[in-house]
This record gives sequence, C-alpha cells and structure tokens, in this order.
Amino acid sequence: MHPYFHQAREIVASLLSRPDELMLETGAGGELLVARLRAVIAAILLLLPLVNAITGGSIRETMIGLAGAVFINVFAQVWLALARTPRRFRWLTFASAAFDVSATTLVLAMLMTTQIPAGLNSMVVWFGYLLAIVLTALRSDGRITLFAGALALVQYGAMVFVGFQLASSPEQMISSDYGAVTVGNQVQRLILLVIATLITAMIVYRMQRLVEMSGTDGLTGLPNRTWLLHRMPRLVDAAQRHGGSLTVALIDLDRFKRINDETGHHAGDRAMRHVVQVLRELGDGDEWLVRLGGEEFVLVMRKPIGTAWERVDAARRLLNERPFEVERGADPIRITFSAGLSAYPNDGKDLSELLRRADLRLHQAKQEGRNRVVARDR
Ligand code: GH3
Ligand code: MG
Ligand code: MG
Repeated sequence: MHPYFHQAREIVASLLSRPDELMLETGAGGELLVARLRAVIAAILLLLPLVNAITGGSIRETMIGLAGAVFINVFAQVWLALARTPRRFRWLTFASAAFDVSATTLVLAMLMTTQIPAGLNSMVVWFGYLLAIVLTALRSDGRITLFAGALALVQYGAMVFVGFQLASSPEQMISSDYGAVTVGNQVQRLILLVIATLITAMIVYRMQRLVEMSGTDGLTGLPNRTWLLHRMPRLVDAAQRHGGSLTVALIDLDRFKRINDETGHHAGDRAMRHVVQVLRELGDGDEWLVRLGGEEFVLVMRKPIGTAWERVDAARRLLNERPFEVERGADPIRITFSAGLSAYPNDGKDLSELLRRADLRLHQAKQEGRNRVVARDR
C-alpha cells in the first residue's frame, strides 16, 4: 500500500476515535477556553451591526445583525456557565460546536429574508462558520472538528439550495450591496469550508500526538506520571461510584544502581525494558502500568488488595525466573523488585495518599531484605 494512503488512514482513524483520558482532560480544559473565547467574540460581534448602521446600512439589516449578536451573546453566557460546572457533560462539546455553526446559519437565514444575496453573499456572517470550525481545534477531539465541518457544509448547502429555489427571477440574485449570487461562488464557499475543516483537523491531529507524547515515557513506552495524575482521579471516581476495588502497587527495582555500575547505563536501560516486558506478561487488561520515574513503576489494578498482591507477587516470581541477558554468552543478571501496595478507600482517598501509604510499605519490603511484596503495615 502507498505510504501516503497508509498515513492518511492512520490520521482519519485517530481523528475519529474517542480521545483517551489525558486528551479528554485537555479537551475539557479546551471547552472552557472555547466558552470564554466565544463570550469575548460574541461581545465583539455587537460592533458589527453598529458599524453597519453608522455606514448607512439598511435598518432591517442592522436590526437582524443586532438580534443575532444579542442571541449569540445570551447563549455564549449559557455555554460559559455550563463549561464552568465541575461536572463534565459529554455532549457539551458537540452541542456547543453545533450551536456555533447553527447560529451562523440562523443569522444568514434571517438576512436572506431581506434579500437572497444578503444571505448567500454576506462575507462577515459566513465567516462565523470558519470561526466555529477553527474553535474546535482547542478541544483536541477530532470528532468534534469533523462534526462541525460536516454540519456547516450541510447547513450552508441547504441554505444555497433554498436560496436558488426561492429566486423566481435572475434579478433576485443580484444586489447592489452584495453583488451577484452565482453557482460558482457558492460552490467555492463550500470548498473553503472543506479546506478549513481539513486544516483544523490536521491541527487537532498534531496536538493529539503532542499530548500523547507528553503522557508517554520515551524509554519504555509506558504512560508516565503526567498520564497517571490525569487518569487516577477518574479511576477513583469510578471506584467510588460503582463500589469497585482499586489497588496501587509502587514497584521499585532492587539495587538498580549496582546493575548500572556493573553493566553500564545502556544495558541498564535495556534491563529496565526487560523488567517492563515481564511485568506486563501476567496483565489481564484491567490494569495500568506506569513509569513514575527512574526505576520506579506504579501498577494500578481494579482488584481488591489480596488479589492484587497475588498478581504482583506472581510477577516478582516470574522476574526471578527470567534473568536479564546483558549480551549473548555473558552470564545473565537476576533482577528483582520490591513493592508496596495500598488500596482505595482503606489506605487513602486519592493518588497521593495511596502512593504515600504504598511507599511506606515499599520501604518495609526493602528493609526486610528486598525482592518481596508488602500489602500490610507491619
Ligand atoms: P534500592 O532501590 O534497592 O534501595 O537500590 P537502588 O540502587 O535501586 O536505589 P536508588 O533508587 O537510590 O537508585 C536508583 C538508580 O536507578 C539510580 C539510577 O542509576 C538508576 N536509574 C534511574 N533511572 C534510570 C534510567 O532511566 N536508566 C538507567 N540505566 N538507570 C536508571
Ligand atoms: Mg528508586
Ligand atoms: Mg531501586
């Protein structure tokens, strides 16, 4: 398959997929940003009918512009209030993007009632579509960008269709203020909407990759601390609401400095990847392994602490059986780890409390001679 085709497919798949937690988090922050920006833009839009009135535009147009601007201002405040609520509404991003597009269509439709070219040739109001599409870039969710672009195309396409149906004579498509409405310039406008959507979608794709990188550890490919900080509150929330179990294991490799000293830093890095591979081997899909930093890992499991202990101890035994081969022919090195476990809600109500408790138990494991998993204070 042609590499370009392959890449295009990957981009489309990425844009259409539901973003992961970190992405949703930035997207949710983006929604508030969009809401604030919308309120500012709405206030600025009030100037447009004013300019129209001062420069001798028709009263009817000015009133429509004013009504549109006031309508948008009122709703901008409603969206802002909704975006500010701590509760996340899944539909909010789609609904507010749909509003931005539909408000543009509404004002254009009202303009069309004065004369058809006002609705189909107004550059200023039509620009609302571009604003609506570009604004979606701040939400780092490709589905919303594509949705807004498609909605703008459908709504404006329908406007054009209705406009041409309404015109009973060619003269009605010509205006001294707005020029002539032609099939050509309307098709061009539709093409411009497609281009704006494509560019915005590419910006979203790039941003998604950057967010992904910021949440991924470069050495092991595991999610990192940033990712955990964003993900954990959701997991705790879910455990609290549905009464599920949640256990974290803080895993620290034993005497890793010595392995570095004996084999060199490069081999140390490879040893780390070897450990990650073994740690993942017994995973059941209902857990997340995170590299917290250095040679420390966190395994978050949706299991009660007893079962979680079994899981981590099995990994410990497996690692004992799988020494790390520094290079072919050389003696393999046995790597071990110690781990401390803590469970929600008994040992802590949030990530930092859970990690503190797990760290205490990890210390106990180290003191008792390493290569062990501790799930209780002793
Ligand atoms: P213990 O935890 O058992 O008490 O001993 P330790 O030697 O593992 O203790 P410590 O936490 O003080 O040292 C961790 C070492 O891990 C320090 C550093 O050399 C090594 N390390 C941390 N991050 C990396 C890494 O990304 N690559 C390599 N090669 N080594 C790392
Ligand atoms: Mg350490
Ligand atoms: Mg260590």
